[in-house]
Amino acid sequence: MSFSVSVVVPIYNEEENVPLMYDALNRVLPETQRDYEIIFVDDGSTDRSLLELERIAAEDRTVKIVEFRGNFGQSAAMGAGIQYASKDVVITMDGDLQNDPTDIPMMMAKIEEGYDLVHGWRKNRQDAFINRKLPSQCANWLISKVTGFPVRDLGCTLKAVRSEVAREIELYGEMHRFIPILAAWRGAKCVEVVTNHHPRQFGVSKYGIGRVFRVVLDLITVKFLIQYMISPMRLFGTAGISCLGISGLSGLATIGMKLIGGVDMTGNPLFTLAVFSGMVSLQFFVLGMLGEMGSRIYFSNDRRPPFAVRDTVNFESEDSAKYSPSFKRAA
Ligand code: UDP
Ligand code: MG
Repeated sequence: MSFSVSVVVPIYNEEENVPLMYDALNRVLPETQRDYEIIFVDDGSTDRSLLELERIAAEDRTVKIVEFRGNFGQSAAMGAGIQYASKDVVITMDGDLQNDPTDIPMMMAKIEEGYDLVHGWRKNRQDAFINRKLPSQCANWLISKVTGFPVRDLGCTLKAVRSEVAREIELYGEMHRFIPILAAWRGAKCVEVVTNHHPRQFGVSKYGIGRVFRVVLDLITVKFLIQYMISPMRLFGTAGISCLGISGLSGLATIGMKLIGGVDMTGNPLFTLAVFSGMVSLQFFVLGMLGEMGSRIYFSNDRRPPFAVRDTVNFESEDSAKYSPSFKRAA
């Protein structure tokens, strides 16, 4: 089996890295003897990144560009690249040269072995310890515990994924960090491999320490999606029944205490508990019903993509026409 490959690279203000990135990919990809394309997604860069990309694409038809109208974030950029990809396997990587294209052939070999998704583990990660590596290690540990998916480095963008698996994953917000988990949820066979990592030489990281909190919140979302998306009523209904039980028991206790011991009902704290947990249980049931309605709408509607494309370069017109603008900008 010889599959073809789409390399997807999100670019946000990486002007120095763009030409170097292209050269590095160009040293590796032709040697794999496969049909390939490189898709750069310009995520609203405000520097010369887009000009550099257009210069490269003008000379090399294998280089394609998706130009966003603004900055929609790394997840949306990766998602767009994946939707536009036309080959059998998608390889995602950062555009800042921190991932190493020479790892690509090894990852392709894993796909050939039969895996659906190969994700990198930056065992020798070249980032600051206190504000990058340590929080990342804690997050990976927590995510593994909560989701039950053994993972050492979710933050590594270098991945190889079968296109049909990649297309199923919805990338919005900062969900790109959970790609292996979301894929495994959909039944993909995943494997983690050690990959190279280099310090950033040009440009600056686009994230600060604030991402730690966002990752934890995203983790709650992912946990919810994986377990309860199909039936939110199971989660909220369980909480509702529990509250209803508490309400019933404390209500009975209040009445019992009144009849047997003559305890004043309104002065009994259990009475307050009965009323409040009764109301809370009603709210949980309503939330569950709203959730069920939401998931029905979700599973039935054509949703809009979480990005807006201004222009594309080097794609055949029939490719992914769904997201392309209906007319081309004057050259
Ligand atoms: N990136 C992007 N849109 C954004 C932020 C980042 O396309 O809003 C790209 C960025 O250009 C780079 C990759 O995502 O190619 C990873 O970003 P960065 O290197 O800043 O993340 P870090 O390596 O620090 O986690
Ligand atoms: Mg980086």
